Order: sequence, then structure tokens, then C-alpha cells
Amino acid sequence: MQHTETRAVHASEIYDDQFGAVAPPIYLSTTFQRNPDGTFREHLYSRYSNPNRTALEHAVANLEQGECAFAFASGLAASMAIIQTLRSGDHILLPDDVYHGVVAQLNELFARFGITYSRVDFTNLELVKQAIRPNTKLVWTESPSNPMLKITDLQAVADIAHNAGALVVCDNTWATPILQRPLELGCDIVFHSATKYIGGHSDVLQGIVVLKKQNDLAEQFTRIQMVGGNVPSPFECWLATRGLKTMPVRVKAQSESAERVVEFLLHHPKVENVLYPGLENHPGHNIARKQMQHAGAMLSFLVKGNGNDAMNVANSTKLFTHATSLGAVESLIEHRASVEGAGSTTPQTLLRLSVGLEHPYDLIADLERALTDGFR
Ligand SMILES: *Cc1c(COP(=O)(O)O)cnc(C)c1O
Repeated sequence: MQHTETRAVHASEIYDDQFGAVAPPIYLSTTFQRNPDGTFREHLYSRYSNPNRTALEHAVANLEQGECAFAFASGLAASMAIIQTLRSGDHILLPDDVYHGVVAQLNELFARFGITYSRVDFTNLELVKQAIRPNTKLVWTESPSNPMLKITDLQAVADIAHNAGALVVCDNTWATPILQRPLELGCDIVFHSATKYIGGHSDVLQGIVVLKKQNDLAEQFTRIQMVGGNVPSPFECWLATRGLKTMPVRVKAQSESAERVVEFLLHHPKVENVLYPGLENHPGHNIARKQMQHAGAMLSFLVKGNGNDAMNVANSTKLFTHATSLGAVESLIEHRASVEGAGSTTPQTLLRLSVGLEHPYDLIADLERALTDGFR
């Protein structure tokens, strides 16, 4: 098999016989001509499939080493599709710090259809075992977690879930298939907010589900795309495909910069703690080393002081933009607790960083100044 970088560049190729275009054309056409005998060609109507979406799905499936993938209009549309494969009476087990949007979906959209859930700390495998119920159909993982960077042992959770007859989902948005391939660690379903590292430029909202096997479940996702209609446009798929080509080099460079930033923060007198799985004293360090190629480009740190101090620091950076989201070429800083709002368990002094592609020394200089100005 070719190397990841090579596959990222070439796995989404579209052959343009007419002109030999090197960059893939964007097929905006919503409908496709049938064969003279009335049969259908590869595509028939753009909600069902279209060349740009198919190219993206093939490429992401290839990078995750899954058999098939299904693109949706956002990361949450992808998680919604996963939940839509369940039935009334089914139960989902989730980590206590799962992405907040998934919990909102379960509460606001699915509770009334009789789908229940419970949440435990997935770093404690005993709790995971005990929390599985006879009707648990999905065990949902997210590693590293947001924004506490907790690490879940994906292989161990997959074994527990499979013993109980449940499938395992992994939200691999933060790690990307460049750093972690959950399907190779026993998970059945991977999903991404492609809005983040796959798109990589803060300009496309998208989600994608990848399956280990092209089986009955795959047929369900095909129907959810076709009949549910929650699909991305050809242009958005084109943008995501374009982002995907540079994802391996971006993620590597950003991860290496993140290490430099962590090193700086660790020694700063105004920093209380740095949460990064690459640190030897991180509780998930050994599992991260086993299941990830690198600890990644996301990190959180706690400032000494109070929530106001943290907010002031976030508002004092110039290179880091104070904004939500992550995974793009530009670095972002975020005061998480105030975004998550009431009920958030995130410490008020926590700031989350998404390290971008700027030079790490410039990023460090920016943080250094903000950690001074923020405390004035
Ligand atoms: C952003 C994000 C989502 C939701 O994706 P959208 O594209 O915003 O709908 C889900 N999981 C994680 C880990 C995310 O960071």
C-alpha cells in the first residue's frame, strides 16, 4: 500500500477525459443523463450521489482504512445519521465529556423517539463495563476528548462493547486518520467533523461517517443520505477534498508546533497546568503512545488566577484568534467554559488552543505577551 501522504493526494482523483484537467472539476449538475436503454450511469441525481461527494468519500474511507464512507452536511449531521440507525428502545453509552452537540441531539431530537443514553468516565474501563445494558447498541468514544484531552483506550472499549453485542463509534475529529485509525483498533464506525482538520481552512462545514465493513449498516447510511437528504453540496465536497490532500503534512507540522507551545507553557509562571497527552505525566500518555502516531495539535492549559484572567488572556492574543472551532491553518484560542454555557464542567481558567501553521516561535511570542497583558 502507498504511504498516507500519497493516498491523501491521489485517492480522490476524478478523471476528466474531455480536457485532462489536473485539478478535479466541480460537478454542480443535480441530475445525470441515463443510458439509451434507460438504465442509470454511475450517478443519477445529486442527493443520491455525485462525483465530488463520491471522490471525497472514497478518499476518506481510504485514509481511515474503512470499506465505505458517507458524507453529510456537518459533523453533527453525521452523528445524527449514526443515531438514526438505532430503534426505539435502544441505549447509547457515551463518555461524560462527549462533544456537547451529541448530547443536545439525544436530548432535543431523539429522546422522544425512545432512544436513551447514559454517560460515564471512559478512562475507567470498569465503569464502562458496568454501564453497558442489555439494550446498549452503540458505545460512543471520542479520543482525545474536548477540551480535557482525556484518552480512551479504544481497543479495550471495543472489546468490552463487542462482548456485549454493541457497535463502537469513534469521533476521530481531533486525531484525524493521520494520527489515529480507530477502525484498526477495533471500532466499527468512525466519524469526523470534516469542518475541522479535513477541510483545514475554516471555510467548509461538513461531516463524514466511515464504516469498517460494507454491510447492512452501510445500506442504512446510503438510505439516510438518499431519503434523509442531509448531504453536502458538490462545492463543499470539493473544498473538503482539496483540504484532505494537505492534511497529512498540515497535521504533522501543527502537531510538532504544538509540542513547542506545550514546552513553553509548562515553564510559564502564570500557567497552572497543561493538558496534552504527549506529556509523560498525562494520565492517558501510555495509551496515547500505543494508539496514536503523535499527541496532536490540540491542547488546553489552565491559567493561575480566575476565569476573568483566562478570558483576558484569550482576548489579548494577536496571532491566535479568540474563536471556537479547530483544526485549521490559523491558530485559535478559546475560553471553553463560556462557550459551553450553563452546566459546563470545564474549569473557568481553561483555555483551549488549536495550533495552526504559523511558525511556533511567533505563536509562543504571542502567548508570552498575552500572558503578561492578560494579567494587567
Ligand atoms: C466540531 C465538532 C463536532 C461537530 O461538527 P460540526 O461540523 O460543527 O457539526 C463533533 N465532534 C467534534 C469532536 C467536533 O470538534
